[in-house]
Amino acid sequence: MLLLKPEDLKRVADHAEAAYPQEACGLLLGFRRANGDIEVTRMAESENKAVADGNDRFEIDPELRLSLMREARDAAPAAMRAAMPGGSHGIIGHYHSHPNGSARPSATDLAMVWEPGLVWLITAVVDGQAVQSTAHLLSPGGTRFNDIGLDCLPADNTE
Ligand SMILES: [Zn+2]
Repeated sequence: MLLLKPEDLKRVADHAEAAYPQEACGLLLGFRRANGDIEVTRMAESENKAVADGNDRFEIDPELRLSLMREARDAAPAAMRAAMPGGSHGIIGHYHSHPNGSARPSATDLAMVWEPGLVWLITAVVDGQAVQSTAHLLSPGGTRFNDIGLDCLPADNTE
């Protein structure tokens, strides 16, 4: 299960709508809980570096990735220290949108996997409106994505 603050999920949807009809993308910082759930502590919008290649591609800004890795290392959030003492805080996934597509991973997505452990959050945007978001992890064999489920954290569980 991927757990996000409601405001972070809304920011992902807002970014997906603002970028329409192009793909929006960004990174998710967080940590893995003892029970295997993955909690997002922050979302960060990225410029889509692949916009010139068409509306079915995304590429996250490598500069953003580096700055977030630094941020994660320097500041483990209180939410993580409470839920997972000694856990490791870092980039746990990314999000992108599917303009006029479904919230399912595409064949292009499967071909683009570069780090098997990252969560893929996908938001479908139809006629400019974000309609659905789903979360996926690559299967152990790397041949397909598994839907891991998505839920919102309680609204008061904020930094
Ligand atoms: Zn995709």
